[in-house]
Amino acid sequence: MTEHASVVVLGGGVVGLSTAHHLARAGLSDVVVVERGSLGEGSTCRAAGGVRAMFTDALNVELGLRSLEAYERFAADHGQEIDLHRVGYLFLLDSPAALDTFAAAAPVQRALGLEVRELSVAETVAASPLVSPEGLLGGVLSPRAGHCTPEAVVAGYAASARRQGVRIRPGCAATGIEVVDGAITAVATEAGPIVTDTVVCATGAWSARVAAWAGVDLPVAGLRRHVALTGPLPGLDPATPFTIEHSSSYYFHREGGGLLMGLPDRTDEWTDDARRDEAWLEELGEAVERRTPALAESAIGIGWAGLYEMSPDHNALIGEADRPGDPSRFLYATGFSGHGFLMAPAVGEVVADLVLGRTPAVDVSALSVDRFDADAARPELHVV
Ligand SMILES: Cc1cc2nc3c(=O)[nH]c(=O)nc-3n(C[C@H](O)[C@H](O)[C@H](O)COP(=O)(O)OP(=O)(O)OC[C@H]3O[C@@H](n4cnc5c(N)ncnc54)[C@H](O)[C@@H]3O)c2cc1C
Repeated sequence: MTEHASVVVLGGGVVGLSTAHHLARAGLSDVVVVERGSLGEGSTCRAAGGVRAMFTDALNVELGLRSLEAYERFAADHGQEIDLHRVGYLFLLDSPAALDTFAAAAPVQRALGLEVRELSVAETVAASPLVSPEGLLGGVLSPRAGHCTPEAVVAGYAASARRQGVRIRPGCAATGIEVVDGAITAVATEAGPIVTDTVVCATGAWSARVAAWAGVDLPVAGLRRHVALTGPLPGLDPATPFTIEHSSSYYFHREGGGLLMGLPDRTDEWTDDARRDEAWLEELGEAVERRTPALAESAIGIGWAGLYEMSPDHNALIGEADRPGDPSRFLYATGFSGHGFLMAPAVGEVVADLVLGRTPAVDVSALSVDRFDADAARPELHVV
């Protein structure tokens, strides 16, 4: 028998599952989520789990704050612990330009209700004691931020969505989108077609290819990023914030008894294949020795690689396709450029509102993909 759904969500990562949950919570549970692999296996379960609202774009501050609030309530709302550590998010500023960018963004952040503290070098090192002061000019701390566990968030949203009647199909790749006279009529999947008139594209780094099935142009490309893990580090301060050096984007946070660390590859690898490359460890070693010399003798092993879903201005693409030639009722939420995990609660809520024709809690119209036609790119500068 052919399956029918009011909405088909493509992609079972945190964005697709949050959207499905919010649709069902708003009363629309005739929703199918199709995921080609296992839930979260794309970028979500490879994320470092950082959650913050400290951005330069006011819209991202709003989405980040609304999501932080949702993560604070997550265990109560979904019955799923997510290991939320509100240890703060600390940017290490090591150039006059970085100081200027953060100083300019702070009033915007505070006006929206986000506490940010500008720190001296001594205060920065006191907040994150593994950090060397060498070359530092200061720091900025967002105390309310921190990190949590992506797999747990995926499990929580999936369970909530299922309880409310959403059908979730892992191991079921979408293979096409049928469009007749400008209207979506079905999604083709490995398990047969699903008749629908509404699609939400939440396929992360693979979104350009999926959108092209419907004739929609979404400029998203995969960019490989690695993560490493240390063994247990005796004496590690449990209050260690998520710490990130602005110039290099070298970052770390506590993970179990040790640290999780990341650093962009020296040469960008644009790919949709997240195979890891051991040569990256050498690049990481240089950053570790320079910024956190106390860790230079620690055993550090490669953890995994994953893909950032990059957009041209490093800012999200959220909206409903409406360029000439686009089909009706094709919605998208992608291009988060490395910060989709932290925004997923608010983004799922907003996309559900767009699907239902309601006014969203946050006006995301400026994040529509049309901004590139209008030469109205919105570069987000606090992206790592
Ligand atoms: C190393 C690393 C560290 C990161 N750290 C952070 C962080 O600290 N904080 C933060 O906010 N973000 C972080 N990110 C970014 C974050 O992981 C992503 O922005 C976020 O997970 C995007 O979620 P998503 O649901 O849109 O995409 P995904 O999780 O990639 O989900 C998309 C899904 O679509 C599926 N799919 C693709 N094609 C098809 C098809 N044809 N049919 C069916 N399913 C399909 C994929 O299998 C995938 O599961 C990090 C990313 C990486 C790689």
